[in-house]
Amino acid sequence: MGTVLDGKAIAAAQEQRLRAAVEAFQQRPQLAILSFNTPASRLFELMQVARARALGIRCRNEVLDSAQVTPDDVERKIQAWNADPAIHGIFVHQPMPPQIDPQRISSLIDPRKDVEGIHPQNSARRFFAKARIGSCTALAVMELIESTGVRLEGKEAVVVGHSEIVGRPVGMLLLDKQTTTTICHVATDRAGHLESHVRRAEVLVVAVGRPRFIPGAWIRPEAIVIDVGINVVEGKVVGDVEFETARDRAAYISPVPGGVGPVTVMMVMQNTIEAFRLQGGR
Ligand code: NAP
Repeated sequence: MGTVLDGKAIAAAQEQRLRAAVEAFQQRPQLAILSFNTPASRLFELMQVARARALGIRCRNEVLDSAQVTPDDVERKIQAWNADPAIHGIFVHQPMPPQIDPQRISSLIDPRKDVEGIHPQNSARRFFAKARIGSCTALAVMELIESTGVRLEGKEAVVVGHSEIVGRPVGMLLLDKQTTTTICHVATDRAGHLESHVRRAEVLVVAVGRPRFIPGAWIRPEAIVIDVGINVVEGKVVGDVEFETARDRAAYISPVPGGVGPVTVMMVMQNTIEAFRLQGGR
């Protein structure tokens, strides 16, 4: 039976390190969060605010009504935060309401304040393995993988899901570690090839958003399995991988909840500190 990767413990160790970094500053970094009035967004915002406060990072949060908000409302808010020297990091929750274009919003955020690592400039730097502000979820995935201590070079890595905020950046970061990386998506599944890709994965990252989508029986023995998915089924949070059976086959597996989630929140804080430094904060 595989080892369950403890995201909460990894996040707690990061918290200690980041708190020491913030205490050493003369000024406090400030994070601005734009969220929407959906249960998932409010829950994530509460977690972010709590972690920021625990670290001594100041926080400003604004909740917009998903049904009423216009693209102009969001754009005006971001421009105001871009221009405010007291704000060092900006995080806009996703998924955004359908009337808001997430690509446009990502490109409006000042790249030095983009703590989600989604501005095209930050994405381009990631392409050249030179990102200073990386995609927070992708960084969290890598943190969990690296916590295993397994040497990644030459391994077969498979990522299921190719979204701009998770699947693609994870693929790039795995490539930086010299894994042989395959990125699967809906067409892989439609073509009937998903199972064969998953079955050969020595490192498997799943970010689809469908409960227990990957059967445990597909997991390659001794694989590292990172489940990014967050799904609510009958009031219970579950991932994209069938956990119990996958755990029997894997060497390491991240649980949902308690895996990628807590580490992602801490990566937002790490990015806020990096953004503060990039803006000359001391
Ligand atoms: P997303 O933007 O909806 O992307 C989902 C991806 O899954 C897309 O690339 C999609 O491909 C792919 N997909 C859909 N159906 C598929 C199928 N049948 N076979 C293979 N691939 C398929 O979602 P996301 O933002 O990446 O998030 C994914 C999951 O991670 C969600 O559950 C989300 O809540 C969770 N999440 C967790 C954290 C965390 O910190 N733990 C952070 C972010 C997201 P196509 O585009 O080709 O349809």
